[in-house]
Amino acid sequence: ALTAGIVGLPNVGKSTLFNAITKAGAEAANYPFATIDPNVGMVEVPDKRLDRITQLITPKKTIPTTFEFTDIAGIVKGASKGEGLGNKFLSHIRQVDAICHVVRSFDDENITHVDGRVDPLADIETINLELVLADLESVEKRIARVAKVARTKDKDAVAELTVLEKIKPVLEAGQSARSIEFSEDELPLVKSLFLLTTKPVLYVANVGEEDVADPSNNEYVKQVKEFAASENSDVIVICARAEEEIAELEDEEKAEFLEEMGIAESGLDQLIRTAYHLLGLATYFTAGEKEVRAWTFKQGMTAPQTAGIIHSDFERGFIRAETYSFEDLDKYESLQAIKEAGRLRSEGKGYIVQDGDVMEFLFNV
Ligand code: GDP
Repeated sequence: ALTAGIVGLPNVGKSTLFNAITKAGAEAANYPFATIDPNVGMVEVPDKRLDRITQLITPKKTIPTTFEFTDIAGIVKGASKGEGLGNKFLSHIRQVDAICHVVRSFDDENITHVDGRVDPLADIETINLELVLADLESVEKRIARVAKVARTKDKDAVAELTVLEKIKPVLEAGQSARSIEFSEDELPLVKSLFLLTTKPVLYVANVGEEDVADPSNNEYVKQVKEFAASENSDVIVICARAEEEIAELEDEEKAEFLEEMGIAESGLDQLIRTAYHLLGLATYFTAGEKEVRAWTFKQGMTAPQTAGIIHSDFERGFIRAETYSFEDLDKYESLQAIKEAGRLRSEGKGYIVQDGDVMEFLFNV
């Protein structure tokens, strides 16, 4: 499964956020084959469409889809030089598909800041610089190798060298490679370099309780937003401490608590949704009387590939998929009415599954 790694300097609220994630955690009984790793927090993806489908189909059971966060503890300055837990930290980041970068945006004299002051931009820079330096090392190594081949006018090598030469000065200036605009042709090459600073980042500004409802007066949040915009990254504002409390509440109490705090959606739910989209993930549904269930797939997947997420036999023996959209179910309110309206589709092997599709797979065993 794709995962988002939680990073940040010490004492910014990472553990508090990760605790919220584990407390809100997915119901283990629904996912019997899920691996149990103490650094991985599995949460259910909030989706109002699933509630609506459940209301219309009244199945015996409803199962949301899940999303995984990985807790990456222990960044220290000098990580790129292999100091302390540094190397381990970088190798953990290499394994995640997106980065949730928690930034301290609250004042509290009782909680020490590692560098003695609250300064979100400096914090972001500290971490990003380690990643930039690690990438610079990879890029330089790669250039040394590819340049030789490029001299023989080898086309692929020349193309790769061009991309590498485009990335290097940006890294040398201390900036992340994600700030570079690459052409369609360059993107596959960039991807093949497995750089750390091309992974999508979501900055998580951790504010105090007093700022949750209206963060517009929080100067730190403003700074984080400005910085994120400069590299096309997203920002969400949460209060990790409040999230830890919210995560322990039942649905009804949760709604009341959020209303009291003056927020429409919990920060954790926002975080899950944003990270999900950042990774290019989407949801399709299966909807029978026994069970209604949401499944995560990667945008651009074909019908047989998405069938394979349920079971590899479904992909191997795929014949076709009886498909309708959530919007049509919402509108016509029953499968029968969807059929009568001529909105049930029979999709073949080449069909690119859309977010919100409701699918029934037909397959040979
Ligand atoms: P980590 O080192 O990044 O994992 O940080 P922790 O999650 O352990 O948090 C460090 C300290 O900051 C703890 O004492 C938390 O209770 C506190 N903390 C976390 N979030 C907030 C917040 O929103 N407001 C305040 N005042 N304290 C917070």
